[in-house]
Amino acid sequence: MIRTGVFYSEVMRNDHAPSDMNIGKGFDAIVKEGLFEVEGISLIEAEPVAEELVLRVHTRRLADEVRRDGLWEVGRRSAGAVVMAFDRVLSGELDNGLALVGIGGHHAGRDDAYGGCCLNHEAIAVTWARENGRGPRFAIVDTDTHHGDGTRELLSGDSNALHICYCGYGRGDGRTGVCLPHASGDEEFVRRLRAEVVPLLREFRPDLVLWFCGLDTHRESYGTRCLTSDCYPRLCEVLREAAGEVCRGRLVVRVGCNAPARVAAEVLPRMVKVLAGQPWR
Ligand SMILES: [Zn+2]
Ligand SMILES: [Zn+2]
Repeated sequence: MIRTGVFYSEVMRNDHAPSDMNIGKGFDAIVKEGLFEVEGISLIEAEPVAEELVLRVHTRRLADEVRRDGLWEVGRRSAGAVVMAFDRVLSGELDNGLALVGIGGHHAGRDDAYGGCCLNHEAIAVTWARENGRGPRFAIVDTDTHHGDGTRELLSGDSNALHICYCGYGRGDGRTGVCLPHASGDEEFVRRLRAEVVPLLREFRPDLVLWFCGLDTHRESYGTRCLTSDCYPRLCEVLREAAGEVCRGRLVVRVGCNAPARVAAEVLPRMVKVLAGQPWR
C-alpha cells in the first residue's frame, strides 16, 4: 500500500491572492470523490512555518511587507504544507505528498516577491530539511508556465539543488539550473518530461523530488501551453516513476491552482489517485 498525504488548510481557500486560485474547489472534489476514505490516503492540516524559518530565506523587509499585505498567514501555511510534506516523506512516514497551496512562491526571491507570490515554499522547505539533518540533495521540477526566478535566485550556486524549469526563457548554468523550452500540448510535454527530465534526475540522484506544478499551463487558464486536464496525472505518473527509481519514491507535489474551478476539480483528484497508485482514467 502506498501512503500518500494531502496537506491543506481552509486558510488556502482564500481571497488573499490577486485572483482566487480555486485550490479550495480542487480540495472539495478530492473530498467528494471519497479519496480520504481510501486506505493509505490521509489529510493533514497544513500548519504555518515559524517566522524564524522564513527569515533564514527572506529579508525582514520582505517579511514585513507580506504581513502588511495580509498574506502572512496564507503564505506561511502554504510554505508549511510543503515543509510538512518534506518532513513526512523524508522520515518515511509517508511515501509521497501533495501540498495544496493558497498563494504562489516561485517568484519570491530573498528581498522581493511579485506575480501572486509572497514566500518561497521551495527554498524554505529545502532550508528546513537541511537544518533538520534531512537531504541534502533536492531536485525541483518546475512545470509552471513562468520562470521560477525567485527559486533560481535562492538556490543559485547550490550544488546540492537541481532546479529545472519549463519556462522557455530563463537562463540556467546548465548544471544545477536548467531552463527548457515550452511544450505545446499534452503529448509533447509528457514525452519531453520523460526524455529531458528523467535523465537529469538519474544523474543528480536527489534525496527527494519536488514537483512545482502550476495549473496556469492549462488551456483554460492564461498559460500558453494548451494542456488538458489529462496531462497533469500523466506528468505525475512520469515523476512518480522517476522518483521510484532515483529516491525510493520520495515525491512531493506542490500545486497552486491558478486555473478555473472546473479545472481544479478535474485535476486535483486525479493527481491524488496517481500518487496513491490508483487508476485515474
Ligand atoms: Zn505561473
Ligand atoms: Zn526557467
